[in-house]
Amino acid sequence: MTILDESSKTCSRCGMKKPGDQFYRRLLQCRQCKREIKAAYRINNKDKIAACKAAWRAANKAHISAYQKRYCAENAESISKKKSDHAKANRERYTARSAKYRKNNKEKISDKNRALSERIPDYLVAYRITMYSKILKSSDVPQELIEARRELIRLKRLIKEISNEKC
Ligand SMILES: [Zn+2]
Repeated sequence: MTILDESSKTCSRCGMKKPGDQFYRRLLQCRQCKREIKAAYRINNKDKIAACKAAWRAANKAHISAYQKRYCAENAESISKKKSDHAKANRERYTARSAKYRKNNKEKISDKNRALSERIPDYLVAYRITMYSKILKSSDVPQELIEARRELIRLKRLIKEISNEKC
């Protein structure tokens, strides 16, 4: 039951007489009306609000990144627990999702893998080659061998792609 006393006011929006504690100080509209006005504003001004937030983030980049760093450092333990709990609870969902993605995006994935293997720098390819020989050092591997190793990578990828198409 609402008790009306001398602090009671009549809301200028809904016209109801309500106790003073249901008004924000110095406002003519009741809390309930104010909430509705705010909610309507948020709905009608989504783009404006988003732009405003983006502008704030852009102007406060350094501040935000410092805050995030500090927050992560101070809460490292609880963050990592939350992550692992979430991963455990959603393992099946994520496995199914990535399997579905792989199935529906075979071409995209193989294009990406191709681009990645073309981009492997020479020194890494040379390093792999040194694993076949005890005397060769990365710096001694001739370009010819690097190219040959790249061909091998292409060959393996093609075999994999063909096998994937078959199943
Ligand atoms: Zn009202």
